[in-house]
Amino acid sequence: MLCWHEMPQLDPSAFPDYERAILARASMGDVSLGFARLGPCALLGAFDDPDRSLRRSFVDKHLPIVRRRTGGGSLYVDAGTTLMVAALPRALAPRHTLTEIIVMVGTVMAEALCHQGIPATFTAPNDITEDGRKRGSVFAVVVDDQILIEAALLFAVDIESLMKTIKLPLEKLSGAGLLAAAQRFAPIGGTEPSAVAARIYPEIVTALAMRLTVDAAPQAPPAVRIGPLPTCQGAPPHDVSAFLKTPGGVLYLDIRLDGKRVRAARIVGGVQCARATDLERLANALTGVRLDELETAVWAAAPDDTLGFDRYDLGYLARLCVERHVLGGRLGIPRDAERVTLYSPRRDQGFADLLADVGALLLPYCAKPAWCKWRHRDGCPECGQCAVGEAYRLGRERGLPVTTITRYEHLHMVLAQLRAAGIRAFLGVCCTEFFLKRDQAFIEAGLGALFIDIGGDTCYTLRAEESAYLGQFTAEATLDPLLLDRVLRLGDTH
Ligand code: SF4
Ligand code: SF4
Repeated sequence: MLCWHEMPQLDPSAFPDYERAILARASMGDVSLGFARLGPCALLGAFDDPDRSLRRSFVDKHLPIVRRRTGGGSLYVDAGTTLMVAALPRALAPRHTLTEIIVMVGTVMAEALCHQGIPATFTAPNDITEDGRKRGSVFAVVVDDQILIEAALLFAVDIESLMKTIKLPLEKLSGAGLLAAAQRFAPIGGTEPSAVAARIYPEIVTALAMRLTVDAAPQAPPAVRIGPLPTCQGAPPHDVSAFLKTPGGVLYLDIRLDGKRVRAARIVGGVQCARATDLERLANALTGVRLDELETAVWAAAPDDTLGFDRYDLGYLARLCVERHVLGGRLGIPRDAERVTLYSPRRDQGFADLLADVGALLLPYCAKPAWCKWRHRDGCPECGQCAVGEAYRLGRERGLPVTTITRYEHLHMVLAQLRAAGIRAFLGVCCTEFFLKRDQAFIEAGLGALFIDIGGDTCYTLRAEESAYLGQFTAEATLDPLLLDRVLRLGDTH
């Protein structure tokens, strides 16, 4: 039997108890399913790091943070979003992997929407979309002998609140930016979300019951308690870290060191694993491991049931961390290596290989002073009034072609030119967020790269990404010429 209900407006702090209630109801062998609407909150994925995924400066003042049991990306949730929370006995899908469970539920939900005249398809790894625009997302985790499924259905989207809450990958807050971001969503509620919901809920229930070959019946919603929410701590201090973008989300590895061994490791990200303890168990298995054996140790202990990433991604993440540690030693100031990121398209080059291959220096226009007439132009006469001039000097004295990237299309063009000129790698200066969000440009170019992070006001802290792509960002980011000099000097020795 599939017993289902609609939950009237739920206080965000009652959500953990609601999850417990759904699981408890299903423990007798039935499927338990509820459609719930929460008051405004940041709904954190089980493995996500709130400091990396949420804009804490806004969220801490305005919204409760609720951690859900399923992994995946963190969400801004309000009354426009319906959360479908379902628990089913593992015996109903005994051999399904996490990916297969999510595909099954996502496909059933998309088909149910289509039956109601709302076009939708399931898009791997976990979205329900229409023509590339998001209508919802599906998350799942195995809890003992049950599968907990949580799906977000977007009936209406408050783009401004969503963008103030979630850090990536979102566009800016100007009118045009909001419009562009809004176009990435296809809310299913139309002008009458309640009427649409009343049609869709039973359709989803019927389709899911058919798929699981069980009968469906309505049930009263469970009584839930409003509880105090635990404070969401950010990352504890670490000695070295690395990140890796995968189709399943961005993975982060933070390590505290004891000499050349791991004292403590932490693996987080907006990713999905079959079991709640998967990443914690992996991190614990790394305690005491020597850095030169870290990648092998990760392969040996990595979870085998994950969505959109695998043990080789986790192993490579470990290698990136070790590479950063080695670079930190060579730079003399280990913390500085945290501001240098390696990008190897085939994952076969470390810092030393890339440094030896660097054939160009790319700088962002945003690090030039707002008053400089060269800010929106390629080039710099090295007038001596800013760090970009120093960067030009450092590049030119090594015979490296130096380019100021003035807009996103310009970056594409320059990368194509570098590749055509036979250059295998470049040294780029940009903010980490740009690299994470716009990695497609680098993937397409197929060039290796070392990126030095910029500081100060980036257009991500100011939420002005889109004007930055158009080359109109007015605040100034800070480029560290000393770090650039030290990285270039390492290359000189090759
Ligand atoms: S050094 Fe170059 S970029 Fe900096 S202010 Fe002078 S001309 Fe402008
Ligand atoms: S995204 Fe913005 S802050 Fe980052 S490098 Fe580009 S222009 Fe600068």
